[in-house]
Amino acid sequence: MECEGKTGIHAIIVPMPGQGHINPAMQLAKKLASKGIAITFVLTQSWHNIITHAHSSAGVNAFAHARNLGLDIRLVAIPDCLPGEFERWNKLHEFFQSLDNMESHVEELIKNLNQSNPTPVSCIVADTMLGWAVPLAKKLRLLSVSFWTQNVSVFSITYHSYLAERQAGSVIHIPGVTHLQPADLPLWLKLSPDDVIARVVARCFQTVREADWVVANSFQGLEGHVVEALWEKMRVYCVGPLLPSAYLDLSDPRDSVVGTSYRVEMDCTQWLDDKAPKSVIYVSFGSLLPMSITQIEEIAMGLKESDYNFIWVLRRPSNECAEVSSMLPYGFLNETKQRGLVVPWCSQLKVLSHPSIGGFFSHCGWNSTLESIAFGLPMLGFPLGIEQFANCKLIADEWKIGLRLRSGDDTNGVIGRNEIAENVRRLMEGEEMRRAAERLRDVVKMEVRKGGTSDSNLESVADGLKAKLI
Ligand code: UDP
Repeated sequence: MECEGKTGIHAIIVPMPGQGHINPAMQLAKKLASKGIAITFVLTQSWHNIITHAHSSAGVNAFAHARNLGLDIRLVAIPDCLPGEFERWNKLHEFFQSLDNMESHVEELIKNLNQSNPTPVSCIVADTMLGWAVPLAKKLRLLSVSFWTQNVSVFSITYHSYLAERQAGSVIHIPGVTHLQPADLPLWLKLSPDDVIARVVARCFQTVREADWVVANSFQGLEGHVVEALWEKMRVYCVGPLLPSAYLDLSDPRDSVVGTSYRVEMDCTQWLDDKAPKSVIYVSFGSLLPMSITQIEEIAMGLKESDYNFIWVLRRPSNECAEVSSMLPYGFLNETKQRGLVVPWCSQLKVLSHPSIGGFFSHCGWNSTLESIAFGLPMLGFPLGIEQFANCKLIADEWKIGLRLRSGDDTNGVIGRNEIAENVRRLMEGEEMRRAAERLRDVVKMEVRKGGTSDSNLESVADGLKAKLI
């Protein structure tokens, strides 16, 4: 296993195990490799198996193509050391608590890599949520890059909240960031400070200050004022959206890999080809958080009442659970079969990039939000948890590219079919939101191309690494 890289820099990249973290980390890996840095990409064994053997169109040895094209990049596995990686929501506390288990395996890996490689490891690039990574880099005298996979607003809110004493029940004001009600704060700021998740995240935000660089999966044209307001305290470099360049109109032949998915993907292209431009709303609530059957029924009836075409990714709550059709109101599939397609999973990027899609009814996960923006699609926000309420507030009130169907104050209730139908129509017919989303899509294209802010930021991190190592 030899890593050379043209710059003599060898970075190991450690994502938090989870699809929404691994996918952008893989894009970051490819971008750093294209700057001449040798990359060892570290996954827990189960994720390694999925990515190298996945049956999805995207997963087939995700980095093989990059290697064929001369990028020095390889996947390695460390032993499985986290519980419930694939049912994380049920075991979220346990999962967060055991993230520290990765540290000793990564340390061992670095030792082995240094014995077997002409270019020793010089840098650890790790998910900000892995609070052990920056101290480990310091201990081993390596450089560290902390990778924040969410937006900078949520970073800044978390950073400032852990700096200051939190005042229960107050409206939080953070320089450069839109006002948030307490109910819309990220999960870790709503929990008691003694809660495991709150403690783990607090530690991450203590250690992130010691990182040599912090990079975020966002872009300057979206959050420039937040980034600048944060500069007084710390520098965060926006390097996103980290999506496969094939979807960003970049003429980079090295990047044909779509991503990774451990689920079988339904191909919706043929179905979409028969629909008029912008006539279909895409409905998906991410890979992780559950939704009640009553709410699923109301969404079904709302989609039916809206009269719009739809593709709905309806996950089964668990493998033991009955077929998807049994979660839907009686007769729904039959009655909507001319204009609706319900699938267990699809390639979201492929669907969102199809011209028949006109809007995205979403849980506002950050990857989904960036993907929607990259294709200029307005969003109907139905957040379910974690930091999604904050994202949804930004989408609706700050960037004005969507509507907010649910806020953090609504978590005990069910949003009814009439409200859903009305908002689907408002979304699909709302010209201003669409124009704002299309403007941001154009900004994305400028930022990610050669010389754009995201590309230049990545270049300065790569240059900084080289400079510190000489
Ligand atoms: N996704 C997908 N197919 C689907 C639904 C989702 O490929 O049918 C992908 C989507 O493109 C995104 C990720 O799953 O990259 C979901 O990440 P996000 O941060 O939006 O939400 P999470 O799953 O972490 O809640």
